[in-house]
Amino acid sequence: MSTDQTKFCPLCGSPRVDEGFLVGSLCQCRSCMWQGPSEKLVVHQFKTSLLDGTDVITRFSAEMRDLVAREMSLPVGKALVKWGFLPPTSIDAVVWGRYMNAAARAIVTAIIETRDQIEAEEEKEAQNAEI
Ligand SMILES: [Zn+2]
Repeated sequence: MSTDQTKFCPLCGSPRVDEGFLVGSLCQCRSCMWQGPSEKLVVHQFKTSLLDGTDVITRFSAEMRDLVAREMSLPVGKALVKWGFLPPTSIDAVVWGRYMNAAARAIVTAIIETRDQIEAEEEKEAQNAEI
């Protein structure tokens, strides 16, 4: 079981953040162009044996974000309006984008956590079978 971490943009939640390598240099989000110090990034720790390496999780997160934006933004947007999370008129694209990014991040987190639970259950079953 390895622990990997992925960093997300604090403004839009995108995992596509370029980090500066020099101490004190700024990071930049490739989605919303936010710039700021690395301490501002939202760090999520993943404990998993499924995906090795932060890069894989970052790419998985980016693909999920694209998928949510492409396939789910309209139906989820309608639901957000229906339930009062977004106004029915003059929807702010940045606010909408933040909800979409948050949804994609939640999906990725839930999938990885569920995979971890499945692996833990399988491990336990295998141990019980040995006894
Ligand atoms: Zn951003």
